[in-house]
Amino acid sequence: MRDETPNSWEARADAASFYGFTDLPSVRDRGTVVLTHGEGPYVFDVHGRRYLDANSGLWNMVAGFDHPGLAAAAKAQYDRFPGYHAFFGRMSDQTVMLSEKLIEVSPFEGGKVFYTNSGSEANDTMVKMLWFLAQSEGQPERRKILTRKNAYHGVTAVSASMTGKPYNSVFGLPLDGFIHLTCPHYWREGRPSESEAAFTARMGIELEETIAREGADTIAGFFAEPVMGAGGVIPPSAGYFQTVVPILKKYGIPLISDEVICGFGRTGHRWGCEAYEFMPDAIISSKNLTCGYFPMGAVILGPELTDRLQAASDAIEEFPHGFTASGHPVGCAVALKAIEVLLEGTTGAPPLIENVNALTPAFEAGLARLANHPHIGEARGKGLMGALEAVKDKSNKTPFDSHLSVSERIANTCTDHGLICRPLGQAVVLCPAFIMTEAEIAEMFEKLETALNAVFDELT
Ligand SMILES: *Cc1c(COP(=O)(O)O)cnc(C)c1O
Repeated sequence: MRDETPNSWEARADAASFYGFTDLPSVRDRGTVVLTHGEGPYVFDVHGRRYLDANSGLWNMVAGFDHPGLAAAAKAQYDRFPGYHAFFGRMSDQTVMLSEKLIEVSPFEGGKVFYTNSGSEANDTMVKMLWFLAQSEGQPERRKILTRKNAYHGVTAVSASMTGKPYNSVFGLPLDGFIHLTCPHYWREGRPSESEAAFTARMGIELEETIAREGADTIAGFFAEPVMGAGGVIPPSAGYFQTVVPILKKYGIPLISDEVICGFGRTGHRWGCEAYEFMPDAIISSKNLTCGYFPMGAVILGPELTDRLQAASDAIEEFPHGFTASGHPVGCAVALKAIEVLLEGTTGAPPLIENVNALTPAFEAGLARLANHPHIGEARGKGLMGALEAVKDKSNKTPFDSHLSVSERIANTCTDHGLICRPLGQAVVLCPAFIMTEAEIAEMFEKLETALNAVFDELT
């Protein structure tokens, strides 16, 4: 397993690379998997071992690891104009075209786009935009941000403050004024004998009470992922957005849909907000915006926020914010190709979103089959994102003791069988690439089932 020779890739990885979001005891035990390349949805390590990556890299490599059109779009743009910024009244032609395209494929009638290098920076940028609006519109106290527990919005100081995960306490986060509401996960958060409708209503009451307690005029915005991703693939309870959106509207609080995972087809719809039939005031995009072929994020503003931000900027003659690589021409060229590949189709190839919808029944059936296991408490998901939640006792949803690291064990056993999937809390997350075939979906579930059986046999 772990190559212990002094100059091994594993030893070299440990020696000079500082790991983030990595279970260090596991790595010490097993060694880092050092990868060299990929083919379709598979990746290969330095020892020549092949893995089916059931997580599309980090949700983002949805067109696989060797898509010729995406690589060619990048190469052509590198040859033509390899880099430029978007400051001081200059920007690349690719940037102009991508903004037009993003507004065209967005749910908005008009709007504007601002670019970043990542999803975290896009959320950070959106918060600064809302703070800027508050200052400009004479409401400087309107600064608080509402999100939900278990939400994942990124790792910068602001987006980590929005993220509702306990691990951020090691940084002394969240910052003041970041408020985390209850996670709308009916299976886990619903009270005994509470119906799903009553649970959803309770989420609305909590929101309204929070607004009353904090003061509506102190709240700058509400951010939500349509389906929570890194929180463990948690679809909202039935009617959740239909309950919270009118409340936000009533108090004039902008709703930001963080579509970094859901956007561009993951749920089977172009946007998660379309899957759940609500209209946000802005969309945050990243990850599959470029199918993972270039680091890029975008804030897509709907028409109302566009007008207000434009007025605020006009008043001081600029919006003083931007990154050196905002609107990078190679990123924009790749994103234009990615949108074609995902949503529009290229010559000879239908749009990949069609394959998401074609694969979803097999994906859901696979999840449902494994949910019959005595130690799987819940199978959940939407489109091609899913999770299986391990439980010690299915009847009362008791989790395994945390020191058993059950999901870590499952994921490690999967790796041994040539399958990469992600442990999250006590759940295992699956978010396959949109290019997968039914045979590859079947391979994924077979390998996962083998791993589940092995681990549960060991633990019980
Ligand atoms: C991944 C993610 C982010 C952060 O994006 P980075 O590019 O890692 O900064 C933000 N929001 C959601 C919903 C994400 O899944």
